[in-house]
Amino acid sequence: CGVFGVYAPEETVAKLAYFGLYALQHRGQESAGIATFDNGSCYSYKDMGLVSQVFNESILANLQGQIAVGHTRYSTTGSSLKVNAQPAVVDTRLGKLALAHNGNLVNTLELRQELDRRNGQYVSTTDSEMIAIMIGKEVDTGKDWIEAAISSFKWCQGAYSLVIGTPDGIIGARDPHGVRPLVIGTIRQENNINRYVLASETCALDIIGAEYIRDVEPGELVWIDDNGLTSKKWTEASNPKLCVFEMIYFARPDSIMGHDSLYAYRLRLGEQLAKESLTDADIVMGVPDSGIPAAIGYSRHSGITYQEGLIKNRYVGRTFIQPTQHMREHGIRMKLNPLKDVLEGKRVIIIDDSIVRGTTSRKIVRALRDAGAIEVHMKISSPPVTHPCFYGIDTDSQDHLIAATKSVEEIARQIEVDSLTYLSEEGMLKVTSQNPQSFCTACFNGNYPIEIPENIKRSKLM
Ligand code: 5GP
Ligand code: SF4
Ligand code: MG
Repeated sequence: CGVFGVYAPEETVAKLAYFGLYALQHRGQESAGIATFDNGSCYSYKDMGLVSQVFNESILANLQGQIAVGHTRYSTTGSSLKVNAQPAVVDTRLGKLALAHNGNLVNTLELRQELDRRNGQYVSTTDSEMIAIMIGKEVDTGKDWIEAAISSFKWCQGAYSLVIGTPDGIIGARDPHGVRPLVIGTIRQENNINRYVLASETCALDIIGAEYIRDVEPGELVWIDDNGLTSKKWTEASNPKLCVFEMIYFARPDSIMGHDSLYAYRLRLGEQLAKESLTDADIVMGVPDSGIPAAIGYSRHSGITYQEGLIKNRYVGRTFIQPTQHMREHGIRMKLNPLKDVLEGKRVIIIDDSIVRGTTSRKIVRALRDAGAIEVHMKISSPPVTHPCFYGIDTDSQDHLIAATKSVEEIARQIEVDSLTYLSEEGMLKVTSQNPQSFCTACFNGNYPIEIPENIKRSKLM
């Protein structure tokens, strides 16, 4: 999911949130929502669909205020329904709160029991609403917003990057491991008053002309109001484990994450792949868009010419019209079309960021051969995905992960390539500019940094 928050009394905050979410669309295409606070009143609007489909000028004009919180959703828990759209809005003693969550809690059963004990009223089936309700319950015991949020976090186990709007200010917070990203930006104004922005990625700051200041740290809470920004370390137990998959695939390449430009990092992944596995070939190409930076890096280090071999239709999005049987047999052409004049008679190295189920990869390989490629060597700029994610990336249950049960040779045979190579785990971590210990790499090795209750484990592990 994508989260966004802004405190800017002189600005049209709903529009800033709209454009922020627009830049975070890749993080979730299922539903979108914005809540604003206007001198104590709260307005919100959310619906299924893309940001550009959910909002228009007149809806945004009704979202008045000094504070806005926004969310783009991609479901990992709770089904794909309008009631599950965020921000989750909850009534409290101090007024409404609107919460936008990225990540996934693993102890929802326990949390639900505690909330039932306290008479929690739900409208959705999401872990995110549970956090909002818990904060509301804590506020109702007499705590202020910050105290209530911190005591609620003690009930939350898992991944959570949160933006929480209130009538008095905005909270930004990350779980003790900081699995999902969250950054702070500022809109500099002529009167020298700095206005603050929170967002999942820096690309959402760029689009509204805000300047990146720093990340919210794992286990940190920031409070933003008219006096600016104040920070609180809310736990001693912080132990950074940023999702490495964010760096490799999920986040936009024009974002900066944990001090790395993701485009530069993905280039280095490709260079590292070339250092680890050189194959003789005529051209190297990437699977658009996610495989392209690594393919350029591979070309740079190997000296093999980089060429575009597949053209992506950037306007397809999701279509609900079923293709005809004949079209289906032709596979992926709706989205990716091979360039015959580039591929004809060539030995091709094709690079992708990851193989999850292997179904797309096989279709792509067939399309390259149909277009005349005489050899297809696939190289992947991350290690084999052998374990499911419980922290908010929808990589499916373990029995659907091709590398969970098959060796590299077996996968190569199944996706019909002449050779298949994955990047090593050491290589993937070595080319970040950070401590290799500061990443979650569980989907590559099963070392889950946050303990997962047995019942949840059983739901996704073989
Ligand atoms: P596969 O060959 O496993 O069917 O698809 C691999 C492609 O899916 C890669 O191009 C990669 O960019 C993309 N991908 C990687 N991770 C995910 C994920 O978590 N969900 C989805 N839907 N696609 C992913
Ligand atoms: Fe990211 Fe994989 Fe860890 Fe999930 S398990 S948080 S996808 S590195
Ligand atoms: Mg891809």
